[in-house]
Amino acid sequence: MKFTVLGSGAGLPSKDRNTQSFVIDCVLEYNEYILIDAGEALQHRILHTHIKPSKIKNIFITHLHGDHIFGLPGFLSSRAFQGGEGIPLKIYGPKGLREWIETTFRISESALNYPLDVVEVEPYMDIRLNNFDVHAIPLSHGIESYAYIFKEDNQIGELQTDKLRELGIRPGPVYGEIKASETFTHDGQIYETPDFIGETIEGRKITVHGDTRLNTEKEYLDSIRNSDLLVHEATFLNNEREKAHDYFHSEINHVLDVFEDVNYKQLLIVHISSRYTDEDIKEVSASLEGRAVIAYDYFELPIPRNVK
Ligand SMILES: [Zn+2]
Ligand SMILES: [Zn+2]
Repeated sequence: MKFTVLGSGAGLPSKDRNTQSFVIDCVLEYNEYILIDAGEALQHRILHTHIKPSKIKNIFITHLHGDHIFGLPGFLSSRAFQGGEGIPLKIYGPKGLREWIETTFRISESALNYPLDVVEVEPYMDIRLNNFDVHAIPLSHGIESYAYIFKEDNQIGELQTDKLRELGIRPGPVYGEIKASETFTHDGQIYETPDFIGETIEGRKITVHGDTRLNTEKEYLDSIRNSDLLVHEATFLNNEREKAHDYFHSEINHVLDVFEDVNYKQLLIVHISSRYTDEDIKEVSASLEGRAVIAYDYFELPIPRNVK
């Protein structure tokens, strides 16, 4: 599984940074992608990747500011012609999203050839996907905005092949059969499969924030604790905490301070303002000392499994 950044910029796009859009790429595990936000030119960005629009089955919109949704109508329309015919799509996002999509498609007389379901999210809503539980946390951005916590289902532990070899069972398709069964027989003796399975593998936890003022409440920090990947905005990179607060955004050093105790594995900083030069970014990156990474467009961050 990996996290792909299709747009790392804030508000105004630049030649280097498109407006916000991300993909949780779990095509190897589950043969699908989860799209988060749909900044303008999303579909053009996708053309530069291996992502198949038809394999995007769920879209999560953090909030309805244009830099997070203006790429949606074009993407939805094109998906129909890119293998998406008849393949259902669900879009989750704040109240108003359905009206906006319906109005856009009605006025432009566009039609889709696949079922589209828009689910309007409410604070603390739980959403079930095929392989993930998703939890929506309300943020503070002056407009309804959410963080989505994606918790992958726990996986059955690894087959302890060394133990099977000790019994004299040689590797082959039989290993798969054993793993899928509750008991198995060898040399006339019955064995319990769980005795040959390692510890349960904890599903990965990926927390992706929409635009927001930094939240320092304990309850919120507890909910994002132990994330394998935390994605948070830092529209301000140079200690302008008060300004960030006034504009309902966050500042990078404040983010690092507040997240110091939430035990994340990786922290990805996004929503980078186009007013910062490459030199600025280099300077800030050097000061992070491995505590976080600043995203750029087409950045891919692997999210390893929690195998002990
Ligand atoms: Zn934004
Ligand atoms: Zn915004």
